[in-house]
Amino acid sequence: MTPGPASTMTYVSTRGQAPVLGFADAMLKGLAQDGGLYVPAHWPALDGPRIAALFGLSYEDAATEIMVPFIGDAMAVAEFRTLVQDAYSGFRHRVRCPLVQIGSNSFLLELFHGPTLAFKDVAMQFIGRLFATWLSHKGERLTIVGATSGDTGSSAIEAFRGQDSVDVFIMYPDGRVSDVQRRQMTTPQEANVHALAVEGDFDDCQRLLKSLFNDSEFRDEARLGAVNSINWARVLAQVVYYFTAAVALGAPDRKVSFVVPTGNFGDVYAGYVARRMGLPIDRLVIATNQNDILDRTLRTGSYRMSDVKPSISPSMDIQVSSNFERVLFDGCGRDASQVRHLMAALATDRGFDLPPGAAAFLRREFASGRASEAETAETIRAVQSETGRTLCPHTAVAVKVARDMARAGGQVRESDGDSPVVILATAHAAKFPDAVEAACGVRPPLPTELADIFDRPERMTRVANDPAAIKSIIMERTAACRRS
Ligand SMILES: *Cc1c(COP(=O)(O)O)cnc(C)c1O
Repeated sequence: MTPGPASTMTYVSTRGQAPVLGFADAMLKGLAQDGGLYVPAHWPALDGPRIAALFGLSYEDAATEIMVPFIGDAMAVAEFRTLVQDAYSGFRHRVRCPLVQIGSNSFLLELFHGPTLAFKDVAMQFIGRLFATWLSHKGERLTIVGATSGDTGSSAIEAFRGQDSVDVFIMYPDGRVSDVQRRQMTTPQEANVHALAVEGDFDDCQRLLKSLFNDSEFRDEARLGAVNSINWARVLAQVVYYFTAAVALGAPDRKVSFVVPTGNFGDVYAGYVARRMGLPIDRLVIATNQNDILDRTLRTGSYRMSDVKPSISPSMDIQVSSNFERVLFDGCGRDASQVRHLMAALATDRGFDLPPGAAAFLRREFASGRASEAETAETIRAVQSETGRTLCPHTAVAVKVARDMARAGGQVRESDGDSPVVILATAHAAKFPDAVEAACGVRPPLPTELADIFDRPERMTRVANDPAAIKSIIMERTAACRRS
């Protein structure tokens, strides 16, 4: 497939009944009007020489090369490059997303050097700047509302704090996030940051969010916007590190495998996008915790929801993997009517059987594995004693799955040598100190930039599990801006 000129990049809905949009509108919209997700109408290709030319570039320059074909004429390249440079300037590591060798042929890709210690900063710092740029071009304001089980909320607050054109409201389940996660949301003092402690659990927060967005009158009046994991721009920012890691390890001349701790399927889907663009990825492995719907789907061909079981890797405690719909769309040969039927079945019957073509497609594109709670803890312990490194529990899930595959001989499938295995390290161990200490006896210290987080004053609003209560807080807090 040859890419069209940049200015022709458009986005279509996986359900085929929403307007075709350019990059900026697809991003600001989040969810398509027909309930589907926006995907590029075609995959821009980076050929071998262009992939090879990424070698030695700064992370920011590589990111610009990789992302520009998706932006179309939404922004000038020079302005985009400056935005990307600004987005990653707050990362604590010079390389931004460095590789660390942990075995003869295996590497950790450390994605947690952003301000909130989880990989979500890689995308969120980027889209915070994108929103600011577009809103100032258009002279508009937006009210970002999100629900979080911990990592997304702190990352969104960090990305939008202090911005003139945005208020950010984050709902989190009161008493059910870690102390570090809560303090990351409640200690920013900027007036545009609103942390809402909801009397309920994460599912309640998600239901509240849905009911705000389903009230179209309120949505328009309050100018709601979303930055949840289905936002295309978040996926796009995550495509970059698949390229930088693979090129550092010999791509395009050598294939590289990736093992990805997965919840909402955003991160591993970004790897799939990199492959569609031409990056020679050997295996792309979905690693799940005990909430293993994706692993089961690949094995059985049947996507069936069950109840979420809380785990020590809470950011992967998910049953409905929102971004899965995007790969399903390709698996159905981009037949939107087929996707509509499957999604209707999911809503009514809590599951569906994959059409045979889609099942074969998914098994070609992905491998999968799971880690139980005991296996996750045992992996943290083993890696700590072998290497002195402390893994966060999400990363440990992926290390366990990678080791299972190596034992099964999965790594050495390529005839001309082993492909290096890159395990995505999605959070800093210090974000989950209790689980890590319980597993290996070492309590990981916070990086110095965050060391005083327990001394900073907290600010949050406790709210009932009631959409009306949330709406009135949002209207009250944003009234002054709407008048002006
Ligand atoms: C969000 C998150 C994940 C899962 O990523 P998805 O894109 O939802 O698959 C894994 N690890 C950590 C630490 C996270 O915050």
